[in-house]
Amino acid sequence: MTQHSRYEVLFEPVRIGPVTAPNRFYQVPHASGMTNALPRVRAAFREMKAEGGWGVVCTGACSIDPSSDDAPLPYASMWDDHDIRAHALMTEAVHRHGALAGVELWHGGASVMNRASRMPPLSPSGIPWMSTHVGFMGNGRPKSMDRRDFRAVLRWQADAARRSRSAGFDIVYVYAGMGYLGYEFLLPEYNGRTDAYGGVIENRVRFVREMIETTKDAVGKDCGVALRISLEELRRRPGRHGESEAHEVISLLADCPDLFDVKMDSSPTDCSASRFSGEASHEPVIDFVKRLTRKPVVGVGRFTSPDTMVSQIRRGILDLIGGARPSIADPFLPRKIRDGRLDEIRECIGCNICISSWHDSVPVRCTQNPTAGEEWRRGWHPERIDRVARADRVLVVGGGPAGLECALTLGRRGHQVTLVEAARAFGGRLAFETRLPGLSTWGRVLDYRLGRLKLMTNVEMFLDSPVGVDEIIEWAPDRLVIATGARWTRMLYSPMELPAGQLDHAQIFTPDDIAAGRVPDGPTLVFDFDNYYMGGVLAEHLAGLGVQVAYVTPAGHASAWTIMSNELPLVHRALAQRRVPVTTLHLLTTFDGETATLKQLFTGDELRLACRSIVIVGMRVPRGELLAALQGREQEVAAAGIRSIERAGDTLAPGAIVHAIHSGHLVGRELELGDRMSSYRRDFPIVERAGVAV
Ligand code: ADP
Ligand code: SF4
Repeated sequence: MTQHSRYEVLFEPVRIGPVTAPNRFYQVPHASGMTNALPRVRAAFREMKAEGGWGVVCTGACSIDPSSDDAPLPYASMWDDHDIRAHALMTEAVHRHGALAGVELWHGGASVMNRASRMPPLSPSGIPWMSTHVGFMGNGRPKSMDRRDFRAVLRWQADAARRSRSAGFDIVYVYAGMGYLGYEFLLPEYNGRTDAYGGVIENRVRFVREMIETTKDAVGKDCGVALRISLEELRRRPGRHGESEAHEVISLLADCPDLFDVKMDSSPTDCSASRFSGEASHEPVIDFVKRLTRKPVVGVGRFTSPDTMVSQIRRGILDLIGGARPSIADPFLPRKIRDGRLDEIRECIGCNICISSWHDSVPVRCTQNPTAGEEWRRGWHPERIDRVARADRVLVVGGGPAGLECALTLGRRGHQVTLVEAARAFGGRLAFETRLPGLSTWGRVLDYRLGRLKLMTNVEMFLDSPVGVDEIIEWAPDRLVIATGARWTRMLYSPMELPAGQLDHAQIFTPDDIAAGRVPDGPTLVFDFDNYYMGGVLAEHLAGLGVQVAYVTPAGHASAWTIMSNELPLVHRALAQRRVPVTTLHLLTTFDGETATLKQLFTGDELRLACRSIVIVGMRVPRGELLAALQGREQEVAAAGIRSIERAGDTLAPGAIVHAIHSGHLVGRELELGDRMSSYRRDFPIVERAGVAV
């Protein structure tokens, strides 16, 4: 069987009520950080997926009324006719490539704070959603819906559905998942109603059924209606007539929508990071749905392997392969599978930087795909790039994420590229980090780039080649890119967040020391104020080596920033499993080789902790020696004919890998622009005046 025929099933059309998806690749609704205020950025972002072969391309959550207001988190809206044109840009763009466009109409119920609209959030019984959870805490409580509210929500949904049709959408959603209004009706803890909408499951499902029926009536006969539903918690609950309440809900609604879009309940399990779960992680929860309905079923699971996708279809788990993150990391995933170009797939690494963009309320960023979100803003296409009229000889120093991405981009543009790396392997920080607990999937960042680079005849690559100014002047490239990365420091901070100098002692380590193979001696304290993954992962790693580890941070949680990437709850679980005690809200002040002194952030009370070694995971500073040395020999550099020197990645500004890749890509795209580098375009809302978009 040829590779193509093995995957043919993925390219079969699927009927979704009155419309037909051209294949089984379905970009499920996912947050993009692009509200109606960025209509061109949003349309271009979604269009890329349609161009890349996704048969259905959906919006993210699209509010049906100001009483569903998630601000400052970004969301789309379909509140009135002014919203139609902004969405039509997207549907027209998606239709240009033969794909269907879906809109995820959404009412957040008690999970939104209505910070801007100041309306009391709606809920079945006045119970706030996740009110003890960081990020959901608020100082207002929702109201219980009365009869007028029921009528109003159904009317908003119907109006929004009609506007969706005017905007050109082919599939309109009803949302009953992730703590939003429809879902709150399904769980008795949130739904304590004693009327026809509460109590037995037949009653709890009534509101969702009415939403589906209302939507169907509103959209007419030539538009599909999808139900998006979370099943994790319901599946844990035994049913009266079925195996679980999830089985009962699906059975009760089996004939209602044209499509079931099934998912998990909370962001950390639904959009789970690769540190803690693999491909197809939803299957144990959603595997039963297809047995209970004749309607097509779509689900996600960070699918990047076509064999896994085919297995999902053949085993009767799913009809459509849902993708959110895999479609961001590689909008051309379907086309690459269809064309048998599997080694060109830029596989999602499951780092969840994309979801952190939503938490940051900004357009989506992706570690693997630096062009995500930049399609309109900078005119970046993930697969196409302009070739230069005249090739330069470019030397790229440093083969970490930034250097590899830069060399790849320069190579694609037709430059003559030489990439030199001091170490015995390419990868920079990732050469070490991919060996740490849970981070092996991040190796895809290297696999993709090295795989592409090795095929390029205009790129040569050298390992074991530390270069200094002499070598560079001798090489005399036309242009030089420095991508030499950053180093961790032993710097500390004061309670006032002021730099408090270095803490020096022979038994104080940084992550660079651990990467170099040094193992701390005796009980070890990991002091983390970097707050992303490194502190938690190193604590896990050292504990795994048998070192007795304690973790201390001035933040309120271990690896506190990982709340942004959905990893935080599982970081705590992993540390607990390794028996690593976590102390929060404490600063490290002194260490004498036997005892570390900690200071409580707010009270100043001292805590002494016996330990023999400390790993400080804090500030990183650029490796700037090479640039400084070059600047010291400016005339020789000029005489060698080196026309420009650029920095990319951590040596420019240390940060997460996503930033290093973006920086390497930017330098690669715009090398010749020098100081003028940056093609940033500004988007603006579409305002309708007397029915005319201006
Ligand atoms: P980034 O994330 O910006 O790519 P990394 O620290 O991951 O940064 O990678 C930088 C790479 O540059 C490392 O692999 C390092 O070994 C390499 N490097 C640093 N200095 C030199 C040098 N003078 N010559 C060649 N390679 C270098
Ligand atoms: Fe995947 Fe990370 Fe890109 Fe998100 S940011 S799509 S998780 S590679």
